[in-house]
Amino acid sequence: MDKTKIRIIGAGLAGSEAAIFLAKKGYNIDLIEMRPKYQTGAHSTSYPAEFVCSNSLGSLDLLSASGLLKEEAIKLGSTLFKVAKEHSVPSGNSLSIDRFGFCTKIDAIIKSYKNINLINEKYEKIDPKIPTIIATGPLSAKELTNSIKEEFGCENFHFYDAIAPIIEKDSIDFNIAFKASRWDKGEADFINCPLNKEEYENFYNILVNAKTAPLKEFEATYFEGCMPVEVMAKRGIDTLRFGPMKPVGLFDKRIKTDFKKNQFYAVVQLRQDDKMANLYNLVGFQTNLKWGEQKKLIQSIPGLKNAVITRYGVMHANTFVNSPKILKKTLQLKKYENIFLAGQLTGVEGYCESISTGLFSAINMDRYLNNKPLIELTNETMLGALIDYITYKEHKKFQPINSNWGITKEIAGDKKKLKNKQYKNELRSKRALAIIDNLIKGDKSEISNQQN
Ligand SMILES: Cc1cc2nc3c(=O)[nH]c(=O)nc-3n(C[C@H](O)[C@H](O)[C@H](O)COP(=O)(O)OP(=O)(O)OC[C@H]3O[C@@H](n4cnc5c(N)ncnc54)[C@H](O)[C@@H]3O)c2cc1C
Repeated sequence: MDKTKIRIIGAGLAGSEAAIFLAKKGYNIDLIEMRPKYQTGAHSTSYPAEFVCSNSLGSLDLLSASGLLKEEAIKLGSTLFKVAKEHSVPSGNSLSIDRFGFCTKIDAIIKSYKNINLINEKYEKIDPKIPTIIATGPLSAKELTNSIKEEFGCENFHFYDAIAPIIEKDSIDFNIAFKASRWDKGEADFINCPLNKEEYENFYNILVNAKTAPLKEFEATYFEGCMPVEVMAKRGIDTLRFGPMKPVGLFDKRIKTDFKKNQFYAVVQLRQDDKMANLYNLVGFQTNLKWGEQKKLIQSIPGLKNAVITRYGVMHANTFVNSPKILKKTLQLKKYENIFLAGQLTGVEGYCESISTGLFSAINMDRYLNNKPLIELTNETMLGALIDYITYKEHKKFQPINSNWGITKEIAGDKKKLKNKQYKNELRSKRALAIIDNLIKGDKSEISNQQN
């Protein structure tokens, strides 16, 4: 195997970050990008690293999950975040970019490297002969996704997100909500929010009158295949009470009752979403409602009045693999260790997450080709927590995730003081950045000697 040649598929956010990192290391890179010959349906230019929708990369505050992720990646040698800062537009404490300025600059950087060979072709088949990073994103071309399906089976592939919102457990009011499983079977794994008739009718009215986000044409193809909660509700006022909100077999042991009779008119159930049980998703609540409407709806549910929503429900075309089954924490495929995946294809969600995993795959590709031990970050860092989440084998149903505090390891300390979010996030942020600093210190020449 020629250890100086690397193939990178997709010059989007993850692929461009990986290509620039590895070009600086002197590798000869074939960067294969299908645009402008073939379009994705969401991109509108021929430039690399195009932002397909919003121009925001989220908060810069180091006490926010997104801010910390960016800072970790900057320390590890990210070029894209550096260029984003150079092309930022005013937006308070968040990082928003002049998208044209940004992608033309990334284009110029890529073209300035003689060792990057940009090939405008569609990559169609997984081929392990050459070390490869696949970063073809949420709108990967069909030929390639067919090849992935052939290699790993259909069950390890998903075509759209039909995501239910996720909320922080700490924000649930347990004076109202209670833990129980239906008919008391097994552990009391679910958190249940009970509704009486009046509360249900109020909830129902908010739901059927809420506005949905518009679907793009290429997304609508997938829309018929799943059942958002708002579509189900429009089939009749009781449809949800016989579906995801059915109350049968759910009892709050604090209230004396006849165990055979329904205690409630309807129940919203929440299921644990992360290893540490900080996050819970609303069972059966995949939705395409506008985010403001989702907030209003969720906060109308008894027990969720102060719910902190860490991820809203979304529905859009989104190709991602079943990372818990096929990917290592190094972002290598378990089947072919010279093939790495990066970006949204791995099941991370968002611009910052895609850039950061692009960088991480490149760092490990470099180490792999140099016979160095590969890096596995712990969930004390934000990037490590994301990768830990997408490769966690025990997910009942793997769904994409963006950076959030709920996936990071709990921090030890004075319990009273830790109730203060600001204080808690300060500790978590310091802990993460110290780990990244130590990693770089111990590995000076390998990681962040990245100057443009
Ligand atoms: C419609 C839509 C809107 C989104 N809006 C937001 C948002 O507002 N904020 C946010 O944080 N995230 C958003 N995302 C999610 C995500 O952050 C972006 O999609 C992000 O660009 C993903 O980065 P990536 O590098 O994984 O993929 P991309 O940036 O999409 O890059 C993949 C590249 O691979 C190319 N490609 C695909 N298949 C092949 C092939 N077979 N051969 C060669 N090239 C190929 C594509 O042309 C593309 O250039 C959105 C996603 C979608 C689909």
